[in-house]
Amino acid sequence: MTETTQTGGAAPGAATVAHSVVRLPPGLYFVATPIGAARDITLRGLDILASAEVLAAEDTRTLRHLLDIHGVALSGRPLLAYHEHSGAAVRPRLLGALAEGKSVAYASEAGTPLVADPGFQLGRAAIEAGFSVFAAPGPSAVLAALTVSGLPSDRFLFAGFPPATRAARKTWLREMKTVQATLIFYESPKRVGQMLIDLAETLGQERRAAVARELTKRFEEVRRGTLAELAAGFAGQAVKGEIVVLVDRAATIRAGAEEVEAALRERLVHLRVREAAAEVAEALGLPRREVYQMALRLEGER
Ligand code: SAM
Repeated sequence: MTETTQTGGAAPGAATVAHSVVRLPPGLYFVATPIGAARDITLRGLDILASAEVLAAEDTRTLRHLLDIHGVALSGRPLLAYHEHSGAAVRPRLLGALAEGKSVAYASEAGTPLVADPGFQLGRAAIEAGFSVFAAPGPSAVLAALTVSGLPSDRFLFAGFPPATRAARKTWLREMKTVQATLIFYESPKRVGQMLIDLAETLGQERRAAVARELTKRFEEVRRGTLAELAAGFAGQAVKGEIVVLVDRAATIRAGAEEVEAALRERLVHLRVREAAAEVAEALGLPRREVYQMALRLEGER
């Protein structure tokens, strides 16, 4: 059966958005949904939501709203709530539907399921039971933020939400200090100011970074600068909305030798070798031992 529905109240002759009801092969379909702008859903994502025999969602109201916007009818199909608290109870029902040869579509509240959202355990259980698992890829705040950050995109580490308490967060951040990749964090607006201070203190004041807020929405904003500048900019500000924080990789001494040498020479005029090395390592987010070796060499040349 194929049904084509026009949505979006398009004027005659204007481009239209359409979805089709199709016969889906049995299996579990993870469908990415918008992180803001409702039209950021793929046509295939809509087809799957219009066609799956069983629907499940982290937030059923949000999914219903999205289906309404795009003119997708539920048509009596079951829509189950599958979230952090209901997962263990609802998973067997979804696996049961898969065992009956049905197609099951799952959407998290926003963005890509499994990315700081439920879905991993469901996907793993489906795979272990031998069912097919499919992705309908689409929006995710990680990639949207990386795209607009101006930071290197060749290699990145998505670290999710940092621990909420300061001591745990700083210990957790220290483990990432020398990672050679752009670091990407999700953070709540309440904590972003303190998070930027902690990032500057643990990874280095001078590291380049970006804060992406409310991407694809009305109050979208991207701030870019060093961690010290961003921390100062957010200090004492009440921030609202959804936020991604991105931090450039640690400079390697080889890559930034001139910068490190200049910083050391400046300090060696008035500091001992050990103190100068400690300050520079801290400011540039570099391994102390390597900076100390460089400082010793420069001191020997003086
Ligand atoms: N599964 C989602 C994804 O693929 O991006 C992420 C879900 S996670 C529970 C929600 C977090 O994602 C927010 O707290 C925020 O850090 C980030 N986020 C989601 N939408 C965003 C947006 N429009 N702009 C900036 N960050 C966003």
